[in-house]
Amino acid sequence: MSVTPESAKQIKAAGWEVLLESDAGRGSYYENATYEEAGASVAPGPGELWSRSDVVLKIQPPLPNRALNAHEAELIREGSTLICMLRPLSNIDAVKILARRRVTSFSMDMMPRTTRAQRMDALSSMSTIAGYKAVVVAAESLPKIFPMLVTAAGTIPPSRVLIVGAGVAGLQAIATARRLGAVVEAYDVRPAVKEEVESLGARFVGPQLKESDAQDEKGYAKALSPEAQRQGMEMLQQRVAQSDVVITTARVPGLKAPRLIPADSVAKMKPGSVIVDLAADMGGNCELTQPGETVVRHDVTIHGPVRLAGTVPVHASQMYSRNVTAFLLHLTKQGSLHLDWADDITSGTCVTRDGEIVSAAARQRAEGTATAKA
Ligand code: NAD
Repeated sequence: MSVTPESAKQIKAAGWEVLLESDAGRGSYYENATYEEAGASVAPGPGELWSRSDVVLKIQPPLPNRALNAHEAELIREGSTLICMLRPLSNIDAVKILARRRVTSFSMDMMPRTTRAQRMDALSSMSTIAGYKAVVVAAESLPKIFPMLVTAAGTIPPSRVLIVGAGVAGLQAIATARRLGAVVEAYDVRPAVKEEVESLGARFVGPQLKESDAQDEKGYAKALSPEAQRQGMEMLQQRVAQSDVVITTARVPGLKAPRLIPADSVAKMKPGSVIVDLAADMGGNCELTQPGETVVRHDVTIHGPVRLAGTVPVHASQMYSRNVTAFLLHLTKQGSLHLDWADDITSGTCVTRDGEIVSAAARQRAEGTATAKA
């Protein structure tokens, strides 16, 4: 749910009328009545809601809707504003419709990674939840327990967990696996994460690269030289073979997820081991991952979840709602939108306005698909 009753109250206090699609909060255990107590009113269906609204707040991008027999982007009122996880490069059809209908659209997943924008960073919120839940999923599938136990029946050694990619999701996965008592190692190409990994009680097992070779000026990983890739891959495969659980979270912005665990490394893992591939939506870090599915290959269970945050709806809603509300209020002055295009948060997240696709990457993708069709 994109807006909790707590946020609805805050939005109302900023001067907006809040309209809610009936039962939209059900999946996160928020009833219509709780929203009404917070000052929101309830509209019977999305059609009416969208046609009456100046600003639509959503989680998912507008998609073709069978029940409504229309593309949702066609239902949003012309000239209004949409704020959601638009992922414009993956939803270019929706972006084109929004531009044609002169909708001003903002994509929460394009939020700049700056201190000022931190409260609005929905990607970090979802990664935090996914990192936690990936460990819970792994613990549930592993035919072993995580902690070391010394019992009358003898000593049980702790399970070994390897986290590949120590960004937001990876760090949360390290902390969760440590709380469950596992011995945790973490692999990343960015040397800058070593200290953070160690402060969470895990061992850093990444290659020794120069900072400028491994990350860009924004702190994201960049594509590595072939030699650095070879070195890193060798180290990584040794660690994979030793691990009971491998959780992969490695991504490079704008590119397919790096392929880090080939099929023959999976074959070398102990029978019963588990992989949770959090990069499944971007093609996967493991060669055998099937996005959205769980498969067993070489006696290893491989999970490829694509919407893990959605399996924790109460806290995922709470965090997204706080992010999206902070963003709306950032754009608001006295109960209406006040868009300052010189502000990097406003301009950096905008995908369409005044009938144009203004995000350069999305425009290129739209032009590319038009040329391909021609
Ligand atoms: P991400 O999701 O893009 O990537 C996840 C991790 O995968 C990263 O740690 C990356 O280094 C790693 N990775 C990429 N290629 C790899 C490879 N070949 N092998 C091993 N690991 C690989 O990253 P993220 O979690 O979004 O965070 C990236 C950076 O941005 C971090 O430094 C984080 O602290 C920073 N950040 C800043 C803010 C803010 O200031 N508002 C918010 C969120 C994140």
